[in-house]
Amino acid sequence: MELELYDVIVVGAGAMGMSAGYHAARAGRRTLLIDAYDPPHAQGTHHGETRIIRHAYGEGRAYTPMALRAQALWYELERETGRRLFLETGFLQAGEPGSRMLTEMQVSAKEHGLPVEVLDSSEMKLRWPGLALPESFVGCYEADSGVLLSEACVQAYRDAAVALGATMLPNTPVIAIHPDAEGAEVVTAAGTYRAKSLILTAGKFAGPMLAKLGLNEMPLSPLRKTVEWFKPLTEDYSPDRFPAFLFDLPEGIFFGFPDISGEGVKAGRHDGLVRPMPEDGVLLPHGTFEDDGRDCAAYVARYMPGVEPTIIKGSSCTYTMTPDEHFILDRHPDYPHIAIGAGFSGHGFKFASANGEILAKLAAGDDPGFDLSLFTLHRFNP
Ligand SMILES: Cc1cc2nc3c(=O)[nH]c(=O)nc-3n(C[C@H](O)[C@H](O)[C@H](O)COP(=O)(O)OP(=O)(O)OC[C@H]3O[C@@H](n4cnc5c(N)ncnc54)[C@H](O)[C@@H]3O)c2cc1C
Repeated sequence: MELELYDVIVVGAGAMGMSAGYHAARAGRRTLLIDAYDPPHAQGTHHGETRIIRHAYGEGRAYTPMALRAQALWYELERETGRRLFLETGFLQAGEPGSRMLTEMQVSAKEHGLPVEVLDSSEMKLRWPGLALPESFVGCYEADSGVLLSEACVQAYRDAAVALGATMLPNTPVIAIHPDAEGAEVVTAAGTYRAKSLILTAGKFAGPMLAKLGLNEMPLSPLRKTVEWFKPLTEDYSPDRFPAFLFDLPEGIFFGFPDISGEGVKAGRHDGLVRPMPEDGVLLPHGTFEDDGRDCAAYVARYMPGVEPTIIKGSSCTYTMTPDEHFILDRHPDYPHIAIGAGFSGHGFKFASANGEILAKLAAGDDPGFDLSLFTLHRFNP
């Protein structure tokens, strides 16, 4: 039987894949999006309501132009769908003076002419009375960064992609992929589909999926992480008064969000205690382990004096790490019509809008428009 032919099939329509499918459909390509769940959902890496977006990047200068493109595309998606997806709360990064991330952030800001304010600890205390950071700390503040409503973003891309003619196949795990010189066949329990190109964005399952395509040595490690919400006792933490933040503290690297829609102040620890995912990839819920949230409760008790350090809500989620914590955005070495987005290492969401555009271009054989040399497959698979 002749299979229906798509221009592109997206395998894994989460944060990156949904955006990639939208961009492919916008470019006029016949697009099929397949996901094992019904995105947005809580089994991947995009749930928990919010994600930080920041521009002058501390983790590598290659990211800054992508962050700026991503921000422009989030605004575009807001306009196209008429939905609120971004809250301009500002973003504060703080740590010891001379810390690598702060220095890099300032260099990126300078290189790209971005408005980053440098503040000492007393200036930070004056501006944000809800914070009690160490006296020696310096902060870099970006007023035009802030918070993305992550599930709403995935839903918006889904609706916009479908409105452009893309087909969405939810609750359909991909069982096998058979690539050849002209395209690929994608096998699911619901049927087999064929496309001229593929976009593989399987989140925490990227490693096993790439192994089936001959890329056996990809060091992708899915890790279970938790985030917690805490009750603010004052108005100091409302989104118009308190920024999204990332602090490099003696206890570890903590990030968080103001009290959005009365849900509470959300905090997470970026480094520190991690638990590898079980083989089947099932995400164990928050509270499974006795120490879930312990670090964040201690962080809040010490550094956020107007917040009750009792966990009112918790969520578990996944980081899919690469050894250098940089992404994979590349074409398959043997099948250049297969674009791969993986290993977003706990900082990918903000870029999903731009990464989707990049992946759609890679799959189509077009110039991605960015220097992707930091994100190659062959750095792990020479
Ligand atoms: C607690 C936490 C906080 C974070 N904070 C931030 C932040 O503040 N800022 C930021 O930029 N980033 C942040 N991140 C990282 C960001 O959320 C991720 O990098 C991003 O969501 C990764 O997107 P993805 O598309 O790779 O994965 P996902 O969104 O999980 O998408 C992968 C999709 O593939 C599907 N799939 C997998 N296997 C199959 C299969 N066989 N068949 C069909 N479908 C399949 C899954 O169902 C899923 O929908 C955070 C992550 C966590 C966990």
